[in-house]
Amino acid sequence: MSKSFKQNEVIQVHELAKSITMMEVYAPNVVEFAKPGQFVIVINEAKGERIPLTIADFSKENGILTLVFQQVGKSTMALAKRKVGDVIEHINGPLGHASLIQPFGNVLMVAGGVGIAPVFPITRALKEQNHIISIVGAKSKDGLFWVDKMKKVSDELIITTDDGSLGRAGFVTEPLKEILSNQKIDRVIAIGPLIMMKNVSKITKEKNIPLIVSLNSLMVCGMGMCGACRCTVNEKSKFTCFEGPEFDGNEVNFNEVNQRLQMYRKEEKIALDYYLGGSNGR
Ligand code: NAD
Repeated sequence: MSKSFKQNEVIQVHELAKSITMMEVYAPNVVEFAKPGQFVIVINEAKGERIPLTIADFSKENGILTLVFQQVGKSTMALAKRKVGDVIEHINGPLGHASLIQPFGNVLMVAGGVGIAPVFPITRALKEQNHIISIVGAKSKDGLFWVDKMKKVSDELIITTDDGSLGRAGFVTEPLKEILSNQKIDRVIAIGPLIMMKNVSKITKEKNIPLIVSLNSLMVCGMGMCGACRCTVNEKSKFTCFEGPEFDGNEVNFNEVNQRLQMYRKEEKIALDYYLGGSNGR
């Protein structure tokens, strides 16, 4: 690059879709080792909250890391307000295991809402060795983004919106059921809201098709020490940050992941209400 950037300098920031921000940051130290499926922990400002974000894209050539996040609480809203030229306090990563990229055959990608972002680099990497069908869905067309990017890395792309404002009306699970009933699919990869991944797993389990999901558990340390991101997979305790974030979706105890997320949200709301006298949208 002709201009020299500071470490963690914001190169680009804009709203991709309703309340969804894309931020490009100069982070060559992270990007050098980044692989699809991994995540980073972003600390926006000194003493700020640790925000785990799945890597949405990266350019090894330019050292640019792309993050896509939903503005859901105080910290993500503050992060979205950063301007080009600002410097992010700290970006820790890449963390977690990378996605398994190998020839599987017919791979079906299921991306819901902001989950489209982490699905993109995995799809791009898998495309080189597999036939890819992608289903991308959002509540309405205002929530959809990167449709063109997903089209480029898929052999077939199906769009759904809950309200029918673009593509097929309904959840991503509807075309999923149809495809699994009439085509041979070797692997499904699903990333999106927990309820979506849980419902995808009900379908894949029934058909005995391998499923990979990426869990968005609460994380603090990101190194398998604090235990905040503990989940149960195949009746064994796992740390999402250290042993995930991807797991066998047919073996994840989704109800427990949900209970742990809800517990955090309740505690966080109480703390925020106490300190800020406001409410948190997370
Ligand atoms: P959303 O509520 O808009 O839902 C997106 C899509 O998921 C819907 O359009 C629908 O097709 C599907 N869906 C929703 N409810 C469903 C149900 N009951 N059954 C079947 N399908 C259903 O999603 P959002 O507001 O963008 O939230 C995205 C979620 O993804 C957040 O909770 C976020 O934490 C999570 N996320 C996870 C990762 C990860 O790496 N695991 C990364 C980014 C985001």
